[in-house]
Amino acid sequence: AEAFNAAVAGAKALNAFIIETPDHALAAADAADKARASGDLQPLSGVPLGIKDLFCTEGYQTTAASNMLAGFKPTYESTVTTKLFAAGAGMLGKLNLDQFAMGSSNETSAFGNVISPWRANDGSNAPLAPGGSSGGSSSAIAARIVPAATGTDTGGSIRQPAAFTGIAGIKPTYGRCSRFGIVAFASSLDQAGAMAQDVRDCAIMLEAMSGFDPKDSTSLDVAVPQWEAGLSADLKGKKVGIPKEYRVDNMPAEIDALWKQGIEWLRDAGAEIVDVSLPHTRYALPTYYIIAPAEASSNLARYDGVRYGLRELPDGANLQEMYAATRAAGFGPEVKRRILIGTYVLSAGFYDAYYTKAQKVRALIARDFEEAFQKVDVLLTPTAPSAAFALGEKSADPLEMYLNDVFTVPASLAGVPAMSVPAGLDAKGLPLGLQIIGRPLDEQGVLNAGL
Ligand code: GLN
Repeated sequence: AEAFNAAVAGAKALNAFIIETPDHALAAADAADKARASGDLQPLSGVPLGIKDLFCTEGYQTTAASNMLAGFKPTYESTVTTKLFAAGAGMLGKLNLDQFAMGSSNETSAFGNVISPWRANDGSNAPLAPGGSSGGSSSAIAARIVPAATGTDTGGSIRQPAAFTGIAGIKPTYGRCSRFGIVAFASSLDQAGAMAQDVRDCAIMLEAMSGFDPKDSTSLDVAVPQWEAGLSADLKGKKVGIPKEYRVDNMPAEIDALWKQGIEWLRDAGAEIVDVSLPHTRYALPTYYIIAPAEASSNLARYDGVRYGLRELPDGANLQEMYAATRAAGFGPEVKRRILIGTYVLSAGFYDAYYTKAQKVRALIARDFEEAFQKVDVLLTPTAPSAAFALGEKSADPLEMYLNDVFTVPASLAGVPAMSVPAGLDAKGLPLGLQIIGRPLDEQGVLNAGL
């Protein structure tokens, strides 16, 4: 009992969960026992998943890690969680994240930052960021509290936290997973995906999450392949592209070495390695940080103190004052920053200069990938330009923080599938990830290269 209590206290200290829902997980476990007895086991029977608290869960509070949604209990279930539960999974709890999924370190949560279970071996013992925005998911999986969790990825929020914590995470093709019931950040980029210990578990989970949904107008009406059954580590006849633009200045030598190691692994698995160019890569980060805030400012207009969660009604306040007081109290600083940037780039005087321009550059970035995929089957890059940084290290400087997304945002802008796989440790003993990017709808190719 003592060891158990210590383990529970250790797990709680990571602050990965916003709420715990053991009743839900236990009900799934009971159902799994019955299913086993009747020979009816499903792919995820009894598996206690963590659910990022951006997914609406019927009857369980959903916060997006923001005070703005205080008290919000959805009366409906997101399509992705509906599918996971229909496949037998249960929910152990709702996981912490960056507020409205805006961040790369989980430090913008109104429920406090999540801590990574990893520590550097340099004696510093500084608590490390679990990555973001799916930092509760990455931390809980890395600490072995849950075997797998949902994530969402708008510009890297599945892949970067996976890389920081030594787990696997896949963002499928835009449109594979329904966005219905997921709190919207930037709708043309938001995509749900799977995070787990390894590639096989990601394949199993993603299969259960994916599929056409008439409730999401951008959902793809295509069949979901049997990704797990199709897993194969043999890459004979496959071509792997190495995009030269991902070799950025100041990249730590260790990341470069890891990339070279990854190239050797894929060559050993039978792949042919080809140098390719994605010439507009350097515009991806500024493009993303115009389009994502623009869409966020529009999506977050719905939090008006009337329809969801929080309402601040100072004495004698009129409607406008109620809106202002609610939004001032409900949104955290990073969310406000994004709303301001977004409304600025969408404003009449600046729309063409910023938003229209960004959309044009986005098309060029997507075309870079199309051209590369005429020559190769997948691309291999590092997932992030560094290993996990210490909590607090980048939180004072938003630009510094945004730069961490440099390798993940291009695939988001192009809507193509991408995965981070654990690839080794740096000199401080911290995990590093490699990213595999694939053709639209070729999750199988991505999973196989990552296996
Ligand atoms: N870190 C990126 C951002 O802050 C990506 C977030 C995400 O993918 N949800 O916007």
